[in-house]
Amino acid sequence: MPPTKEERREALKAVYHQAKGCVNCPQLAATRTTVVFGNGNADADLMFVGEAPGANEDRQGLPFVGQAGKLLDTLLGEIGLSRPEVWVCNVLKCRPPGNRDPHPAEIEACQDYLLRQVELIEPRVICTLGNFATKLLRGDPTGITRLHGRDEVRVIGRRAVRLYPIFHPAAALYTPANVEVLRADFARLPALLARDLPPQPEPALEEPAGPDAGADQPTARAVPEAGAAGPLPEAERYRAEAGREAESDADADADAVADEPDPEAGRELEPAAVQLGLF
Ligand code: URA
Repeated sequence: MPPTKEERREALKAVYHQAKGCVNCPQLAATRTTVVFGNGNADADLMFVGEAPGANEDRQGLPFVGQAGKLLDTLLGEIGLSRPEVWVCNVLKCRPPGNRDPHPAEIEACQDYLLRQVELIEPRVICTLGNFATKLLRGDPTGITRLHGRDEVRVIGRRAVRLYPIFHPAAALYTPANVEVLRADFARLPALLARDLPPQPEPALEEPAGPDAGADQPTARAVPEAGAAGPLPEAERYRAEAGREAESDADADADAVADEPDPEAGRELEPAAVQLGLF
């Protein structure tokens, strides 16, 4: 019997609690303020996967709350969707110090959280934002400049989805011409969501239970080896500076006011979980 929506949500909650105390990457665990698990609709048809939390996200415990997040919200609004309807998360759940690129070992250590999110939320379409998410979920080093705007069916963990790579919103902030490219790619999302669910792989013979369930399942992704992907070509390269760091404290304050009138109360209630509707 496939799990019910409620069972999937309970399991997601367990994964959230597990992630919250994660120390798999000692450096990230030591420098983070919060684990940014992801937020939105725990039963979403559409999932966005970014790179890693930036300073604002680390402070608030929520993904894409700075300038890149504002652009994401605008583009979503233009296709008639809003953040509470979709699921938004990142390849890494912790902020890399100084907004450096995620290390291959960190991507590897964190990927089971993402795979569990895919398995439990059961999206139809996964939109990878930029190179890191695209390379991870495609298991291939082809860059976003070549792939953006082209959907393909991929099996991620146990779930067949339409994978749809697009530019990272931070890339658009950095290179304004990319906003129109991103807008054009977003415009295809409603049609993609309306397509049939791709045929699903056969379920595993024995359904494991519990928060770690499925963590050891084979997946279609491949983690880039250290240095395997090489430096990104200039045209594809945006630095977290644009999306994760250039969000000034003033922006962060404005976001905090807009998104969470009482940030301290939010912190007590664990904002990511609150946004998940888990409590
Ligand atoms: N950039 C990302 O990749 N993720 C965030 O959550 C914010 C900015």
